[in-house]
Amino acid sequence: MNKDNFFDSISTLKGVGPQLSKYLKKRKIEKIKDIILNLPYSETDRSKIVKLNELEVGTICSIKVKVKKLNFPRIRNLPNKIICEDETGNIDIVYFNSREGYLRKLFPLNEWVIISGKINFFNKRYQITNPDYVTSIENQDYVVKNIPKYNLTKGINEKKYRSISEKIISNIPEINDWLDDQFIKKNRLHNWSKAIKNLHLIEKKDNKSNSYRRIVFDEICANFLSLSENRKRIRKRKKAKVFNNQKVEFLIKKLPFRLTNSQKAVLGEIDQDLLSNKRMFRIIQGDVGSGKTIVSLLSIYNVTQSGYQTALMSPTEILAKQHFELSEKIFGNLLEIRFLTGKTEYKERKKILKELKEGKIDLIIGTHSLFQKKIEFNNLGLTVIDEQHKFGVKQRSDLAKKGGNNCDVLLMSATPIPRTMMMSLYGDMDISKINEKPAERKPIQTLSKPEKKINELWPSIKKQIESGNQVFWVCPLIEESSFLDYSSAKKKYEIINKKFPNKVGLIHGALDKEEKEIILNKFLKKEIYILVSTTVIEVGIDFPNANLIIIENANKFGLAQLHQLRGRVGRGEKQGVCILLFKEGLSKNAIKRIKILKNSDDGFFIAEEDLKLRGFGDLIGYQQSGIKNFRFADPLHHEDLFQLAEKYVLEIRDNINEKKYSFLLKLFDKAEIINVEEF
Ligand code: ADP
Ligand code: MG
Repeated sequence: MNKDNFFDSISTLKGVGPQLSKYLKKRKIEKIKDIILNLPYSETDRSKIVKLNELEVGTICSIKVKVKKLNFPRIRNLPNKIICEDETGNIDIVYFNSREGYLRKLFPLNEWVIISGKINFFNKRYQITNPDYVTSIENQDYVVKNIPKYNLTKGINEKKYRSISEKIISNIPEINDWLDDQFIKKNRLHNWSKAIKNLHLIEKKDNKSNSYRRIVFDEICANFLSLSENRKRIRKRKKAKVFNNQKVEFLIKKLPFRLTNSQKAVLGEIDQDLLSNKRMFRIIQGDVGSGKTIVSLLSIYNVTQSGYQTALMSPTEILAKQHFELSEKIFGNLLEIRFLTGKTEYKERKKILKELKEGKIDLIIGTHSLFQKKIEFNNLGLTVIDEQHKFGVKQRSDLAKKGGNNCDVLLMSATPIPRTMMMSLYGDMDISKINEKPAERKPIQTLSKPEKKINELWPSIKKQIESGNQVFWVCPLIEESSFLDYSSAKKKYEIINKKFPNKVGLIHGALDKEEKEIILNKFLKKEIYILVSTTVIEVGIDFPNANLIIIENANKFGLAQLHQLRGRVGRGEKQGVCILLFKEGLSKNAIKRIKILKNSDDGFFIAEEDLKLRGFGDLIGYQQSGIKNFRFADPLHHEDLFQLAEKYVLEIRDNINEKKYSFLLKLFDKAEIINVEEF
């Protein structure tokens, strides 16, 4: 076998017919390399031959016995039975549905055989039903040993799988490693061929952990490399923008606040990209309220001043509207700004599209659907996409393509991603981080309360409303459920509406987009004071008057999510308060989680802690992230390898030798992504 064969279909192997291929496919084993990467998770100890008077029921044993009698009852439902013995006792070997001729061959009368399987006890006799192995004494070395245990599906047993895998594993050639020896040694890894063999072959008691680390490292690298390759494709050459970032200075001076150092640094990074002759594909990562919007608007201004058009997109209409109003305030009549959504009237829409095409508009603001429709620009120079955490890699690169070849792309996200996962989520982009909040911002006060004391809340809510403040009330469910003992938004709405008639609104995910917008608008205009909702309010809208949020069944939510939710309040001048309601009898872990939230206002820190306590399954944005695609790597256990791989890939990514890495990428099914055909 040479390494090209790794990518042949398993159906090219002798003894692998359509039926077996089908079963293997269920375990995602389609190519020979999939067998190589299907690592054993344990081993079965068949290495000792046990005397029949020392058998333990329930264990897997190997025995050496003489065939005494074959019993074929020929009555339906009665099994065939072979009675065997050694010097110390006897045992029944039992078969259902096996043909007589086959068994007679397998168990020659009065001969010694080796049998391995699970020991049962039935009718006061030891027995093995459908043993895993039966073989002659000459063949005993094949069976009586430790045998690797693989995850298999129904339809393939260990014996069958071994008949395919052992040949492949023992024939793995020495490959030309893509990591050099020094790097391997320094980072406690193993050379690839050695690592793979070491992990499959049980007898080798070499340090398996270093071998496993090697495969994990490779997997992470393959992932990062493919993202880097994506990045390279997006960052193609463009016409460099001639602009002068001094022009924006007077706008910065006019702002009612001073930019934080983080905001300034990020602006600088964006300027560099705008000036460069490669397309920008950058994401601003910043906690809720860190002030991403203004950074994007200042960059937008810069681009318009060099004669290009710009677009700003948001996930919801309300958010888009807020961006529009803010832009009008900041830019006044310095720029031609238009607002375009699905609801814009036909005539107005037609006019806007015409103006866009003629280059009369500097900045167009709308929902994400801006780009889904056919819109022509005169010369689009920058697209900004807000709150993009719902997009995956594929959607992002599609978006980037739509902007046209000269268009820079800037994304913004408030979803705090733990450090370890940053590259696997955003490796196709450059990352700018806003890691401080405006100094005068007061951290939100976070309290917790047992649910049964809910009645203590009404007076303070009443007081809030009387002084013109607004309240969010968040429930995990939309409707009551007979399976889940959680509070529902609909029920809560009824209860609160009775207490505060005409002051309460209800919003949840089952409403359509327009219904949601209507209610949010009412809240924004202070027509209602309490908004009962599910987590739909999570995304970046600014409600400066809301300063109290109550979250029911708070332990049902991830920490990062709770942090996002409480970020909805305290955005104006007033002190924001978040009350977490809990059922009695919280677990230790739950108490720890509340404590973290109470003590920290740092979304990144919280995300890290959440990761440690609950695993990465609960982080927002995780579902779309593709981090699930890791088979060996685990951000929690291999943090150092994620870091190492990141450093490694960042170093090589601008001049990747595709030939060198194509084998690695193919191993982890990343080759399709980057279209590497030959290697
Ligand atoms: P996010 O990063 O969550 O999108 P926003 O951009 O909506 O945050 O900003 C939140 C609020 O903070 C806005 O009202 C904005 O005007 C204000 N803000 C932004 N930058 C600063 C700053 N440097 N100092 C004080 N307030 C700021
Ligand atoms: Mg925002």
